[in-house]
Amino acid sequence: MIIIDGKKIAEELKKELKIEVSSLKARYKKTPCLSVILVGNFAPSQIYVNNKEKSAKEIGLKSDVIKYPDTVEEKVILEKIKELNNDETVSGILVQLPLPKQIDKQKIIKAIDPNKDVDGFHPTNVGNLSMGYASLVPCTPLGCYLLIKKIESNLNGKKAIIVGRSNLNGKPMMQLLLRENCTVTITHSKTKDLKAECLEADIIVAAVGIPELIRGDWVKKDAIVIDVGINKTKKGIVGDVSFSEVSKTAKALTPVPGGVGPMTIACLLKNTIDCFKRSQL
Ligand code: NAD
Repeated sequence: MIIIDGKKIAEELKKELKIEVSSLKARYKKTPCLSVILVGNFAPSQIYVNNKEKSAKEIGLKSDVIKYPDTVEEKVILEKIKELNNDETVSGILVQLPLPKQIDKQKIIKAIDPNKDVDGFHPTNVGNLSMGYASLVPCTPLGCYLLIKKIESNLNGKKAIIVGRSNLNGKPMMQLLLRENCTVTITHSKTKDLKAECLEADIIVAAVGIPELIRGDWVKKDAIVIDVGINKTKKGIVGDVSFSEVSKTAKALTPVPGGVGPMTIACLLKNTIDCFKRSQL
């Protein structure tokens, strides 16, 4: 069984990106910059944003975090986004989710220039991805995709089961695997027999938020299993896959932590560089 070392693969990707950043700086005499908007003091969001900022600086990107109290009005955020959209020194814009109730998430996402949308959530990017055109792709599914490709470069005709249909994970994951000629089934909370679906799969991507939902006897021998879940439990952080059981049956499996999480951040950096390159065309 291969434990897919997301931490190591993310470090390798970051090394490549660091080299790319230094050649872009030399070529354009400019530094790609990621601007992050952080509203409120929700602890996990603060941790994510700190990690993103630290990783951006490690590979030579500029990064700035603009903080607001959780009472901030929606129009203030919209105004800031407009300013960042028009600022030529800003390559990518990320608004850390979740947002407080008075702020309409969809309005915020739509306000970001699609060419600076490092999260790939803007409807233009979602539409382009679904039509197979060039687009910015949400960081977590992009990270999962790169991990799968490390294990199996040719995915033609593979049967992929995606557990969870969120806009953040399941749906973009489906598009990425379709693009690779997989036969994709997307399952969700109303799926009748999830175990039977999983047992058909050559590739399983679990993005649900239920601790250890996917069991050892749900997984075919030789399946590649990607665990997106991050669940806080009494025994610590666990994924959506029972690691102890599935590691006995699958061909390859990502651990939690140390699997998909580090790839998400590396892909955010990749997207920021892609935004910069688009702006230089
Ligand atoms: P979400 O709550 O938006 O979506 C969950 C999906 O799971 C829904 O589509 C729902 O239909 C489906 N679902 C619920 N119960 C189900 C069941 N019993 N059987 C099958 N499907 C079921 O969640 P999300 O934002 O996609 O996040 C999913 C998990 O991934 C969470 O644990 C989250 O913390 C984690 N996550 C990890 C990263 C990372 O970088 N590793 C990034 C984002 C999210």
